[in-house]
Amino acid sequence: MEAIILLGPPGSGKGTVAEDLKDALHFEHISTGDMLRNAIRLEKPVGLEAKSYMEKGELVPDEVIVKLVEDLLQSGDPSTRYMFDGFPRTVRQAEMLDQALLPFGSNVRYAFLLEVDRAILVRRICGRRVCRNCGAVYNVHNRMPKVEGVCDQCGEKAIYQRPDDSEETLNNRLEVYNAQTASLIDYYQEKGTLVRIDAEDREATEQTILDHLSPA
Ligand code: ADP
Ligand code: ZN
Repeated sequence: MEAIILLGPPGSGKGTVAEDLKDALHFEHISTGDMLRNAIRLEKPVGLEAKSYMEKGELVPDEVIVKLVEDLLQSGDPSTRYMFDGFPRTVRQAEMLDQALLPFGSNVRYAFLLEVDRAILVRRICGRRVCRNCGAVYNVHNRMPKVEGVCDQCGEKAIYQRPDDSEETLNNRLEVYNAQTASLIDYYQEKGTLVRIDAEDREATEQTILDHLSPA
């Protein structure tokens, strides 16, 4: 088992980068946000538990997330390479991930930190549209599906705007990031796995990640 992490505020491009790179690098893209949204859609208990937190832009409690990810890792093939997006978001979650990788003789290989100015985050998030079915990410400013409302990736007519991508909720999400998730920067810095990336340009961001993960 192998794991890398995409770290960064909402709108920094974690989901887009993961979708763009997963196939070339043979990683499975795991977005805990997508897992939770699916659980809500399918009316699973974990979805019901998470929903009110997500609507407010608060973090879902660690216990819920830890259970979700532990179940995923236990059911997966031990040779899987995971690219996590939106997880971990607290030091407690990061510690749990390290514990879970231990039996595989593995650890987080890189934590890529995607850094983007706040004004750009706000613009991106307010313009973001996603596929309810497969999680593909679009943007009204520069990246819309070829056929309006229809996902290029899965073909479903399922493009929508996430309720927490409204401007009010977004402000809270940015604050939550600064208050609770930014401490992970120190956590991975101390472990020596942090890679800071100026993530304003998508292609340059992806190239930096490729350079780190591709054999020379
Ligand atoms: P973004 O990175 O754009 O904020 P996500 O889809 O990663 O979007 O997360 C959406 C919401 O899902 C978060 O605001 C939070 O409520 C919940 N969530 C997702 N992942 C986690 C996590 N690892 N820990 C706690 N809450 C989470
Ligand atoms: Zn889709």
